[in-house]
Amino acid sequence: MENLSDTRSPERKPALNLKVGLTALSLLGTPYGHDRAEAMEIPPTATWQEGMRETEKSVLADAVEHKITFVQYADGTSIWAPTIKGVLQQVTSSPEKVITGILNSGEKNTIQTLCDMHTHPSHSAVNEFSMPTGLVAGTFYVPPSFGDTQVGFLRSKRTVEAAKALGVEVQSVVQAAGDPKGIWYYRDLTEEEKKEINFKEIATQAEVDRFDQAQKDFVIGSASSPVFNFSIEYQKLQIEYQRIGTKVRFVSYADVQKEGQCTGVDSK
Ligand SMILES: [Zn+2]
Repeated sequence: MENLSDTRSPERKPALNLKVGLTALSLLGTPYGHDRAEAMEIPPTATWQEGMRETEKSVLADAVEHKITFVQYADGTSIWAPTIKGVLQQVTSSPEKVITGILNSGEKNTIQTLCDMHTHPSHSAVNEFSMPTGLVAGTFYVPPSFGDTQVGFLRSKRTVEAAKALGVEVQSVVQAAGDPKGIWYYRDLTEEEKKEINFKEIATQAEVDRFDQAQKDFVIGSASSPVFNFSIEYQKLQIEYQRIGTKVRFVSYADVQKEGQCTGVDSK
């Protein structure tokens, strides 16, 4: 019969693999042997630099993604919102939940910049990209996924709206992902930038697949190729991001310590 529902159909495999991955991690501990018993936590009063050091520690040691949010107020003060713990390959946190967390821990001041970030730990990348175990944590990059780039604009918009509904103005939102090497800032291309490159909206699955492959090649190349040349591959990857309507900028953890707070894509 044609219409038999087949529980072994390929569409069901990813969920199954994820489950197996999670079970393996919890049974074996973690491949790098220095998982932390406690979840990542950035104290509200930590500086930007202290928060970035904690982020770097988390992506190297923790098995799960985290949502982290840095808030710069218009009066020059800043706070870190409560950290939200996710699962292996994702962290779920609505902009509304993030804003409520900020208002519970801070004052109702005008927010100049809200840095809406999440982590891409070594462990989840090893699983997601089926990488060989035994890789040294921190030796590879995990830039924003297609999904990250496609929800970024919407997250920013909803953050501003959620804050407004609670009487707080948010002047700008910056999207970023922290990987084992540093911070990837990302945003949608402006209308002007789209015109410059004659950008066409993503229309086919093939275009999405092309991007996914480029991202995967970058991750795996940086992890395992002895001839991986960051500046050349980074340039090529930036073009792939443009093709999906996104601009990215990578800042290493060393440079993050020297740059200003949450500088975003457009800082030079
Ligand atoms: Zn991500």
